[in-house]
Amino acid sequence: MKRILSMICICLILALGGAAAVYSFAPGIYARIGRKLSRPTPAPEITLDPAFCYVQSEGLTLLVSKQFPLEEPCRPDDLVNLYEHKERSFELARADIELRQPAFEAAQEMFSAAKEDGVTGFIINSGYRTRERQEELYTQSDTGYVNAPGESEHELGLTFDVTTMTDKPAFDQTEQCAWLFAHAHEYGFILRYPQGKEAITGVPYESWHYRFVGKEAAKVIHENGWCLEEYAAAP
Ligand SMILES: [Zn+2]
Repeated sequence: MKRILSMICICLILALGGAAAVYSFAPGIYARIGRKLSRPTPAPEITLDPAFCYVQSEGLTLLVSKQFPLEEPCRPDDLVNLYEHKERSFELARADIELRQPAFEAAQEMFSAAKEDGVTGFIINSGYRTRERQEELYTQSDTGYVNAPGESEHELGLTFDVTTMTDKPAFDQTEQCAWLFAHAHEYGFILRYPQGKEAITGVPYESWHYRFVGKEAAKVIHENGWCLEEYAAAP
């Protein structure tokens, strides 16, 4: 009996010692595993089934897609012409680009912060689109990147497309893109059509298309690695 007890004691000491050694050599790994295990919100299982039940919200997180088109053309009354703001923290590809006031203010704040980090040269090349403009672009484009009229959130005025002057073949190879990936959520923006979520969004990966949803929603979406559909499907 004594022998069994001392065997158990030795095993316990060895196990505790081993755990302590792992923690002291790799506390970072331990913390990461700990965080992963305690993550409370797994991605909801969702499909493009039209019967799938989303909690469709109003306002900044409104889902606009093939499945949830905007029935009526809309022209928000707080649209801002970006060119008229001479103190901009970004460049413009054209003089007629508009965004809703909250999206504009967040973009100003975001691109100013990028500048402080030494990342500049962002060029906004698209913002709010009227139904007619979306129709025009849709009929002219055969790239698969332009959504049908009513199905584009550009009609909400909360979305911009961004690029930069670069010799890189694609925007997602630039430091500007990397900075936005890391920081956009801090200012209430999300990458609306992320890589790997194509089956859910129904839209190919677009590294340049950002949607303003507000800081609270952007934080949840970023921390969980969700797209907007998954956010809308979360209980
Ligand atoms: Zn876009």
